[in-house]
Amino acid sequence: MTITVNSPVSALRGVGPAKAASLASAGIVTVNDLIHHYPRAYQNRGDVKTILEAAALCNQDKTKTGGAGEKQSAPPCAFLLTVAAEPYYKMIRRGMSILRFRAFDETGVCEITFFNQPYLRDVFHTGSTFRFWGRPVLDKGTLKLASPIHEAWTEEAKLAPIVPVYPLCAGLTQKYLATLIREALQAVASQITDHLPPEILQGNHLCLLRYALTNIHFPEDREALESARRRFAFDELFCAAAAMAAIKIGKKRGSAPRFSRHVLAPLLDQLPYCLTSAQERSVREIAADLASGSPMCRILCGDVGSGKTAVAACAAYIALQNGYQCAFMAPTEILAQQHYSELSPLFESLGYRSALLTGSIPATKKRKIHAALASENKAERIDLVIGTHALLSDTVSFSALGLVITDEQHRFGVNQRALLREKAEQAHMLVMSATPIPRTLSLVLFGDLDISRLDEMPPGRQKVSTFAVDESYRDRLTGFIRKQKEEGHQTYVVCPAIEEKQKAKKTAEDTEELADIDFFADTAEESLPLKSATEHAAFLQSVLPDLAVGLVHGKMKAAEKEQAMDAFYKGETDVLVCTTVIEVGVNVPQATLMIIENAERFGLSQLHQLRGRVGRGKAKSYCVLVSNAITEASRQRLAVMCRTNDGFQIAEEDLLLRGPGDFFASEAEGTFRQHGGPAFLFSAGWNDTDLISDAVQSAGRLIARDPDLSLPENRLLGTYISDTIRHSFHTIS
Ligand code: ADP
Ligand code: MG
Repeated sequence: MTITVNSPVSALRGVGPAKAASLASAGIVTVNDLIHHYPRAYQNRGDVKTILEAAALCNQDKTKTGGAGEKQSAPPCAFLLTVAAEPYYKMIRRGMSILRFRAFDETGVCEITFFNQPYLRDVFHTGSTFRFWGRPVLDKGTLKLASPIHEAWTEEAKLAPIVPVYPLCAGLTQKYLATLIREALQAVASQITDHLPPEILQGNHLCLLRYALTNIHFPEDREALESARRRFAFDELFCAAAAMAAIKIGKKRGSAPRFSRHVLAPLLDQLPYCLTSAQERSVREIAADLASGSPMCRILCGDVGSGKTAVAACAAYIALQNGYQCAFMAPTEILAQQHYSELSPLFESLGYRSALLTGSIPATKKRKIHAALASENKAERIDLVIGTHALLSDTVSFSALGLVITDEQHRFGVNQRALLREKAEQAHMLVMSATPIPRTLSLVLFGDLDISRLDEMPPGRQKVSTFAVDESYRDRLTGFIRKQKEEGHQTYVVCPAIEEKQKAKKTAEDTEELADIDFFADTAEESLPLKSATEHAAFLQSVLPDLAVGLVHGKMKAAEKEQAMDAFYKGETDVLVCTTVIEVGVNVPQATLMIIENAERFGLSQLHQLRGRVGRGKAKSYCVLVSNAITEASRQRLAVMCRTNDGFQIAEEDLLLRGPGDFFASEAEGTFRQHGGPAFLFSAGWNDTDLISDAVQSAGRLIARDPDLSLPENRLLGTYISDTIRHSFHTIS
């Protein structure tokens, strides 16, 4: 039987029912799943160290104090060693044996030990040479390796320079998976067809899928690995952008009411300020969409405080003037209420009826509102309804819904947008987002929408003064917290971890199969100790005994969290130590100091969101980023925060320094999913912005020419995209 990409893994040699079950629990069912099960890291075994070099590396071990009898170690590395004498073998006790021998290279001798592997007696003989991979330990001047990986070395046989490290699960080993994947690749290599059209591959200097797959698993060398990763990174961004562009074209084919007339002056005259030029521009863009006859699908992106509500009010006013209704949805009841109390008087004075519709409105009143929304009689009809997502539930119907505005604090997935479109068929749609997105990425994340950007703050906003400091400022920082209290203000302290245990976990996981080419993590800062919220709260309480210190973190029960937040809001606690749970929806105007511990751990956009929690009142506010970060990259990132308060600029710099991963985190992961793995696996950390914009632009051009991907050379791509994207773009459009 020939093996195809669709064959079950059990068709491969060495896969019985037990192994098949293990593979299935890792999400690997078919041969295709197997060849797309990518390494999570690589061991650079081609970079062989001498015993002398390894000893020197151990001597640099910073985690030890260097006290008498302490062992020092270095990250795992490769050695080329010759066995010096026949191994010493001993049963220590029942079921426990030890095998030990010395091995040498041209710089010295080291001691190698294996436990409970008696058969290795027949492997290691005097004079034979092996490549070993393991963590060197320096013990009283002797270099030791415990249970290293070993590969027989001869002049002729070429050992792989870079060895993959796979995500595993019970019943699988690295060696087994690697062998199986190699076999699978060989079996189906000739069947692997590239879904990217030749023109795209050539135009962007990308390697072929077959080459990329082979080299992502078994790289010939570092360049081949880079070339494979680059192709996959491009692929992810290109397909996502193409899908979004196709969805957008599909939407534009629909029709929607034409709002051809509008006079905004009566509304604008009531506002106590003039619109900023960014607000004016956005209103113009919206007005043009509403007059076009095809449905508006627009997102208004603007930092917190940039004045999105006024723009939304103008859009609503245009719909109302043209005889249609507007539904305005907020993510929470509180925000819906806020919008209602702000907008309702404005529109009532202009002669329009409005209502608030949320879950807590009594049933009888709800029924009345439902009736008034569905009424054909203009005199009793509600024109503007403000509420939560419940507004679009089946029980609510509108007599003339013309515009749906969604105020999302956070990102709004393409699937939710599709759902919204179904509910509000013929209506125009405006989505508001408070997360500044870099321009190039917006086409991947919001490519199905037109984008308006409020990139200008209303005048007179205070800037939050921001400083980056290290641990040596600890005492001054404590004094600064006390000073806020003396002036009647409060302090937030954000920590990256909840409790001590969290730190241990990460390191334990990483020690065993350490990789020196780890493309998923910023490994340089990985070893910095993390401040935990629980401990840090106790510390602050001990150095500030007369202040009240509160604590909020994600593992607390909702009621506890709320209580702690409430106490801070009411000023009963002076300091609130928390994890990033406070990112959303908190407003405590008397808080004037934001301290972020282990600031190197956070993305810039996240730091920006956190900083946005202060500077909401009249008093001068501060943000202090505490970090002992050592890398240049970390220092640069923190410097950006000190330099600017502009969310868009920060987003651009974040993209440049860390890659797009932080922006994909919530939104896109749920929508684009490849082979069960994370969707933007390769592009998440890819901070080459040229590649990103090339991918996005190529996708845009291709879809403009062939919107349905029906040309012969694009058909494979069309199938690939609709298979890859969970909510197939064919059904959306
Ligand atoms: P967000 O974009 O976060 O929703 P809001 O719409 O709530 O921002 O506006 C924040 C504050 O700025 C409000 O108090 C609003 O009245 C005020 N504001 C909005 N536009 C302007 C402007 N052009 N000039 C001055 N103040 C403005
Ligand atoms: Mg708002």
